[in-house]
Amino acid sequence: MLTAKSKIENVMKLVYPCRCPACENPCNYGSGSLVGDDLKRLSEFLGESEQDIKEKYLEEKEKFNTKLLRPKTEKGNKPYGKCVFYDKSNGCKIHEAKPTECKISMGCKPYGEELITWFDLNYHLNPKDPESLRQFKIYLESGGKSLPEGELNDFADENMLKKIENYEDLKDNTDWEKLLGLK
Ligand code: SF4
Ligand code: SF4
Repeated sequence: MLTAKSKIENVMKLVYPCRCPACENPCNYGSGSLVGDDLKRLSEFLGESEQDIKEKYLEEKEKFNTKLLRPKTEKGNKPYGKCVFYDKSNGCKIHEAKPTECKISMGCKPYGEELITWFDLNYHLNPKDPESLRQFKIYLESGGKSLPEGELNDFADENMLKKIENYEDLKDNTDWEKLLGLK
């Protein structure tokens, strides 16, 4: 069973390089994020520099106050769109070097949802960032799913929990009354 703290080597043992239309349907509506060496691998696969790839094909996606790069999508005026690397006849054009989040999208496996949750907990959630934890707390309170070892207390000690509750990281120390000449 996957937990929030499962190591990537073990997670990747559950992932297969298979491809079929069922898993590629979501490519019509979005794309998966790159982490680790994904950009380097993509650069070698496409024979283009990392900088060129970033400019031509990638955009930022934010979740839990963390921005990751993902392939651009052809959104037009809709909130979603087809991934730039998706070809309706041939599927994913970068299958061998696709982003980690795409690799772990195993639509037909009973643990498919756990894999995606594991990705979010390990790459979007940032336990050092109070705002990331605050957004994660709201997500959990709204019924969002996590994994074993993936509750708020597993990522935040008492000090951090207090910081999140009191919005301490968002307060600044400006003495506004003094600044405005009111004292
Ligand atoms: S995980 Fe299942 S649905 Fe996805 S590509 Fe492999 S066989 Fe197809
Ligand atoms: S990179 Fe490939 S697998 Fe990932 S969303 Fe785009 S087309 Fe789909």
